[in-house]
Amino acid sequence: MNALTQPSELPAARGCGDLPVLRERGQREVFCGLTGIVWLHRRMQDAFFLVVGSRTCAHLLQSAAGVMIFAEPRFATAILQERDLAGMADCNEELDRVVTQLLDRRPDIKTLFLVGSCPSEVIKLDLAKSAERLSRQYRGRVRVLNYSGSGIETTFTEGEDTCLKSLVPEMPALPAGQRSLLIVGTIADVIEDQFSRLFGALGIDQVQFLPPRRTDELPPVGDGTHFLLAQPFLNETARALMARGAHHLAAPYPLGAEGTLEWFRSAANAWEVPENTFAETLRAPMARAEQALERYRAQLAGKRISFLPDSQLEIPIARFLHRECGMELVEVGVPYLDQQFMGPELDLLPRTVRLSEGQHVDKQLDRVREDRPDLTVCGLGLANPLEAEGLRSKWAIELVFSPIHGFDQAADLAELFCRPLIRQEKLAV
Ligand code: SF4
Repeated sequence: MNALTQPSELPAARGCGDLPVLRERGQREVFCGLTGIVWLHRRMQDAFFLVVGSRTCAHLLQSAAGVMIFAEPRFATAILQERDLAGMADCNEELDRVVTQLLDRRPDIKTLFLVGSCPSEVIKLDLAKSAERLSRQYRGRVRVLNYSGSGIETTFTEGEDTCLKSLVPEMPALPAGQRSLLIVGTIADVIEDQFSRLFGALGIDQVQFLPPRRTDELPPVGDGTHFLLAQPFLNETARALMARGAHHLAAPYPLGAEGTLEWFRSAANAWEVPENTFAETLRAPMARAEQALERYRAQLAGKRISFLPDSQLEIPIARFLHRECGMELVEVGVPYLDQQFMGPELDLLPRTVRLSEGQHVDKQLDRVREDRPDLTVCGLGLANPLEAEGLRSKWAIELVFSPIHGFDQAADLAELFCRPLIRQEKLAV
């Protein structure tokens, strides 16, 4: 039997789920949650993100997202100057004025996100109240929501979590007796199309996505909703969906061929898809993925890799690189570890891995220097210093910006890790 027909192909014993985790709290080197706007604004095409922040926030957004010259931008920063509490009434007036100007000029905006940041003058402002006030004013025309993209949170992908969580109360109720599958987490449109086709071929027709391409078409949620997480950083959104009656389908994340197969299997089991339909539907994409992976496996097998905590994608990608590409995991660090949503992934990690949670950047760099892995996945700010010490690095943020989910992207994901190693070989010649 192969992985397609054998439901218990994955190891029955727990991988490293019960191993002690090295917990660290110290200086962090990660982007803030505003970064999520870069991919969220591309996904939700009728939404606008108005960051209420400082010049630093505006600079971060501009350099992360680039400046769109030909298109109407769908994000901006309302810059607040330092004020005392007595001046906050003026701040609210100013915000209302900016929003009015924006919405008068842009009738295409259906959802406006007021995005909080971490400067002290913004913290003094109650953005939830501002969103309520503006929602009343624009009722029926624009939905105004707020969430925090502040750098005080643990890491930058939490920006998507807080954004999607703010959409959950707005989702219509799924009528009693109906059933639907909800895919949660931003994925590229092309991958959404691939997933929809495969779910359709499995006979699962009611499939919807959060966030949707258009926010005026939010998917319904209720007791008949089962959801799969497409991204491993959406814990708060998942809990908000569960509070509305939705059921979480536990699965590894759809990264790599094996992870994608098991992710589909979790939905197929809930929908009681016959085993032969499952095997026939996924045989071709699985075979394609495995074949495409072969050449990268030859380059990656036996290489040692460490992950510094950055994007929260570390565990599923480490699982993929170890099990499908033969890499040796030295340390896998994550910004935070939520056993509830990471359990199926932890079950697949080898017991030899050093698992760490949280960040103490100096201690972690010391361990990397001592371990001297072939490749270290880390934030942008740490990559250059490591390279200068002769250690190869991979920017973690590239993993969030690239389409890496699903069968057809498994080889692309492996290739991202081959590139720095090949570059090293070429330089060494
Ligand atoms: S939200 Fe905070 S961390 Fe992020 S850019 Fe603004 S000031 Fe910097």
